[in-house]
Amino acid sequence: MEEKAAKRVVLVPVPAQGHLTAMMQLGKALYLKGFSITVAQTEFNHLSPSDDFPDFSAVTILGGLSETEFKNLGPVEFLIKLNVVCEESFKGCLGQLLQQHGNDVACVIYDEIMYFAEAAAMDFNLPSVIFSTMSATSFLCRSLMGRLNDNPLLDPLEEPGEEDKLIPELYPLRYKDLPTSAFAPLESSLKLYMKARDKRSASLVIINTSSCLESSSLEWMRQDLQAPIYPIGPLHMAASASFSLLEEGRSCIEWLNKQAESSVIYISLGSLAWMEHKDMVEMAWGLANSKQPFLWVIRPGSVPNPESLSEELNGIVSERGHIVKWAPQKEVLSHSAVGGFWSHCGWNSTVESISEGVPMICRPFSGDQKVTARYLERVWRIGIQLEGEELKRGDVERAVRMLMADEEGVMMKKRALCLKEKIEASARSGGSSHNSLNEFADFINAL
Ligand code: UDP
Repeated sequence: MEEKAAKRVVLVPVPAQGHLTAMMQLGKALYLKGFSITVAQTEFNHLSPSDDFPDFSAVTILGGLSETEFKNLGPVEFLIKLNVVCEESFKGCLGQLLQQHGNDVACVIYDEIMYFAEAAAMDFNLPSVIFSTMSATSFLCRSLMGRLNDNPLLDPLEEPGEEDKLIPELYPLRYKDLPTSAFAPLESSLKLYMKARDKRSASLVIINTSSCLESSSLEWMRQDLQAPIYPIGPLHMAASASFSLLEEGRSCIEWLNKQAESSVIYISLGSLAWMEHKDMVEMAWGLANSKQPFLWVIRPGSVPNPESLSEELNGIVSERGHIVKWAPQKEVLSHSAVGGFWSHCGWNSTVESISEGVPMICRPFSGDQKVTARYLERVWRIGIQLEGEELKRGDVERAVRMLMADEEGVMMKKRALCLKEKIEASARSGGSSHNSLNEFADFINAL
């Protein structure tokens, strides 16, 4: 008897490290459940066959945008344009896939920001599913900000002083914690959120979070969207899949092996955030004065002239610190020498840290990172947020000492370990995220 072909899902990721990481983990999780996977990639990310994704196939959505346009437009305007230019080409890709695989193509799963995919899927009567690679709370914020008329969230953002106030409905968020972008004016972010909200008619939403982290935001999302929401994260626990656009420097693991238990603060700003030279100098002095060993990821382009630290400071840094261009982050966070994580609070970094029970110093840079930093400090209480336009060495030193050496840091570590247990339980057989992923797989099988 001829064997029945597996159902195929088409994934449409945003071409950026954080989004791709989560989408590829989702692909791996679904592959392990027996589905065939096609990744529809733009010209800005190229999937190369690896041990982690052996049978994935890929199609390229041609949009005709160049790297120069990405640089000139900035990420937000670029994404708006990408959504315009990719729609027709993606329809072509879907048409070909349907010719090739017929009814085996079950659905399109797209990153909430790649909303062009929804229109294309609709053209072929294919069900579509939104995948949110960020937190439920920031999804909710973006969705509320994307309401067209009579939007009470927006006025205070423009008023000096008002932005420090708490948003009563979204306690403990303040107006300034809303996911506005450091890369674009407010109007551009709103345009993106409005379009994403406007186009939305997907059958359901899956999200890379766990109900043990964000139950009330998830409930509000359900009411706001009037659609089923499946919290299936953190996905790196369901399917470890390594997907890195940069080469990982493994020297740091050897260095960590020589450090005392829980003594090292790990510092990384993720794949897009950057800092000014003066902030880097203050940070380096603060770290040096804290006397704590540190592992610092200085990604090319994330600081101007990293080699221009003074000789004196360079000496101290090399004595107590280790610098790499890109680290195997999950392995670093699970290393027994790591006691704290200085992060820009990208969602992947945050869930990776929580699932290893590592408390954080939060220095958000843009967008949803501000929402997450506030949650880390005020809701989960496993983070210290460093606020203020400029970084000061005294504040850096105090925050590092507090996290790594004070009673407050010990309490944070305890809470972080408690959250780690909860999140592990949600990912285990019978846990909420585990069940949601199974229910989602049943949904695809029933299509
Ligand atoms: N990452 C890594 N090595 C590094 C820094 C980051 O592997 O040196 C990974 C990290 O584990 C995470 C992703 O890059 O999975 C960054 O995603 P996140 O959502 O935290 O931030 P973004 O890059 O989207 O701002």
